Amino acid sequence: MSTERLLAELPLVDHHCHGVVRGELDRAGFEGLLSESAWPAPAGTAVFDSQLGFAVRRWCAPLLDLEPHSAPEDYLARRAELGVAEVNRRLLAATGIGEYLVETGYRGDDLLTPAELAAVTGRPARTVVRLEAVAEQLARDGTRPASFAADYQAALAEAAAQAVGLKSIVAYRCGLDFDPVRPAPSEVEEAAGRWLRRWEAGGQVRLEEPALLRHVLWAGVDRRLPIQLHVGFGDADIELHRCNPLHLTRWLRAVRPLGVDVLLLHNYPYQREAGYLAHVYPHVYCDVGLAVGYTGSRSGAVIAEWLELTPFAKALFSTDAFGLPELYLVGTVLFRRGLARALDAWVADGDWTAADAERVAHAVGHGNARRVYGLEAPGQGSAAV
Ligand SMILES: [Zn+2]
Repeated sequence: MSTERLLAELPLVDHHCHGVVRGELDRAGFEGLLSESAWPAPAGTAVFDSQLGFAVRRWCAPLLDLEPHSAPEDYLARRAELGVAEVNRRLLAATGIGEYLVETGYRGDDLLTPAELAAVTGRPARTVVRLEAVAEQLARDGTRPASFAADYQAALAEAAAQAVGLKSIVAYRCGLDFDPVRPAPSEVEEAAGRWLRRWEAGGQVRLEEPALLRHVLWAGVDRRLPIQLHVGFGDADIELHRCNPLHLTRWLRAVRPLGVDVLLLHNYPYQREAGYLAHVYPHVYCDVGLAVGYTGSRSGAVIAEWLELTPFAKALFSTDAFGLPELYLVGTVLFRRGLARALDAWVADGDWTAADAERVAHAVGHGNARRVYGLEAPGQGSAAV
């Protein structure tokens, strides 16, 4: 079988994604989810005029019975005509994703839950728990500074009981250049005091105290589940230069002896740096989810760069789709195409055998995720490298 054909049929495990919106979207709502910017495009311009926007018109329009490349107005009109449930069903079915690992910690009320996603797709959907969201719920529930550490440990144990992994967004809250050492109990209590006083005085519950962010990250390590970290490209909340994964080097060294796997998410434009970390540290894995959809026609180049140094047993597929089923569809179509093209080129050059390309495609598409997260293999075909 050609690599392209194999990739087209591969039942992918999406190891990092979110739910899709349950309500109808107007143009502003749709475009808001088609960009990582918090603001609308300048007057007279369109968010659709981007690699991602063009990819949606190319790949999603035919699934809504339109011509490829249909105009945004026609696409959105047809989308509204079909209704969100039908659009979700059509686009998700076309992804060929075999299993979803869904992070539920952000805007969970607006999105389909993992159980609902599983019902719509007929595929298993498992939960990944966001560490910071568990702490923020504790503040709402009235935790106190002196009991915060114990309360957090208990709340995380409960929240993660059925989860396959944990996720940290420390990149968003203080950057990845945080102190890699586990904070002392007194430091945690003091920081919890500042945080809770601000919250009780009418401030935001958002966890931004560096000592608390470090504490919840280390508490996550103590759970011994795989930990995902947001790295690189994201919305305007991050300072991108502080989201270079190389800032994590000392923390990764500290975690290594503890036997916990760390999954670096997105990574763009630092996919080569992430590949280096996955290369040298046995517990580090990485993906280029999010970047694949957003870079559209250039996603093949991102995938090829990612696989320069990343060991093939350390590379995982994800879409990081959030809100729009279009992001699932585009993320899978472009991933399958980009990986197939890269592998085919290396086979054509005589550098790789077709059998090795096939083995790597299975590993990256689903086998590595099944191994790292301990997912059951659905029958045969889940070979890892
Ligand atoms: Zn995400």
